[in-house]
Amino acid sequence: MNVLVEPQVLTLDQYTPLLGAAEIDELRTLAHPIEGCTVDMVNSTAVGGGVAEILSRLLPLMRELGLEARWQVMEGGADFFDVTKAFHNALHGGVWRGGDAGLEVFRECNRRNREKIHLDGQFVVIHDPQPAPFIESRGDNGAGWFWRCHIDLSHPDPAIWNFLEPWVHRYDASIFSSPAFARQLPIPQYLFYPSIDPLADKNKELDPEFIERVVTGFNIDPERPILTQISRFDRLKDPVGVIRAYRQVKRYFDLQLVLAGGGASDDPEANLVLEEVRQEANNDPDIHILQLPAAAPLEVNALQRASTIIIQKSLREGFGLTVAEALWKKKPVVASAVGGIPVQIIHKHTGLLAHSVEGAAYQIRFLLSHPEIGKRLGEQGYEHVRENFLITGNVRRYLTLFLHHTHQTCGHK
Ligand code: UDP
Repeated sequence: MNVLVEPQVLTLDQYTPLLGAAEIDELRTLAHPIEGCTVDMVNSTAVGGGVAEILSRLLPLMRELGLEARWQVMEGGADFFDVTKAFHNALHGGVWRGGDAGLEVFRECNRRNREKIHLDGQFVVIHDPQPAPFIESRGDNGAGWFWRCHIDLSHPDPAIWNFLEPWVHRYDASIFSSPAFARQLPIPQYLFYPSIDPLADKNKELDPEFIERVVTGFNIDPERPILTQISRFDRLKDPVGVIRAYRQVKRYFDLQLVLAGGGASDDPEANLVLEEVRQEANNDPDIHILQLPAAAPLEVNALQRASTIIIQKSLREGFGLTVAEALWKKKPVVASAVGGIPVQIIHKHTGLLAHSVEGAAYQIRFLLSHPEIGKRLGEQGYEHVRENFLITGNVRRYLTLFLHHTHQTCGHK
């Protein structure tokens, strides 16, 4: 059976103190003409990773605005997720190693999912390459179909892009997370920044005692500096590089490192990477490798808030939601200049960018010796997130897109 994800209930009014009444009113005004319309969202994982994180917050808000928003997760066996992981890597600038057999697994799994998941909403948003062939299910109800691509498509392996492209061309429009990610396409392309929810358990204010309990519960010393990377155990997040940077800093500062990650259910490589990370850590008691449950938002929040510095040393990145989460907590961030990170980290204004292990180590040492600069970067980062990367802004963009593409009346007043 395919999972129909039921997100937690939120009310828009709760955002008013943070964002002001005008912004919330604007959402209600925009939603009014499409009230009662159904929005179908499809992706490939219910928990873990940035896409699931965003959908779990977007859906309740759309519902409160009067849309029938539904989120369906496609299902596949280990073979499918092996193939889609290889797909992901090949689209992200790697080489496709799945052969024709891999492509057939992809097609077949999509065929099976299309038989089970019926999409009859007025607006259908398909997230990422895994379910892109769902466009074949498009009926003649005049619905708007949109392909929301969260990954960087600027340097795909042509073999895999040529395979995927014909499906992409059939959508009404595509949505990318950064101008740098997009490709030449015959359909309109929109830019939607991903977003975080300031009221979610992942980002809300926490009681300092709770933070301390979480930290000490993981045997981390709250009195000494903490450097943290929260990420799935994925080579593209470069956890081994993070340990190498930490080692360079450790010669000068009594630093602890936290590498916290859970596996997204669509990532079969996580255990291999975890093993590489353990080997690199070599039983250093100040390196804390935490395997969190797939959904542990309060723990992630507490670890981020307890950290002295947040690092995101990705080699490639989609948007990098963890960066926005850290900035929202006013943390100084050292991050690689890849994917959507430079949109969030304006070097020396909202954080520090790095291009190598040595560069990351240098910036961490700089922040540890200049805490007042770290504080300023964190505060500026918070403002940057407030203006650009909050969930309410994301809802506004979807509403505008839906209004633009409305083909039928669906309860217009
Ligand atoms: N995350 C989490 N637990 C983990 C690892 C990651 O909740 O153990 C969350 C993280 O807080 C963020 C999302 O998963 O909200 C990761 O999104 P990002 O865009 O940084 O990376 P992705 O995993 O999508 O490549």
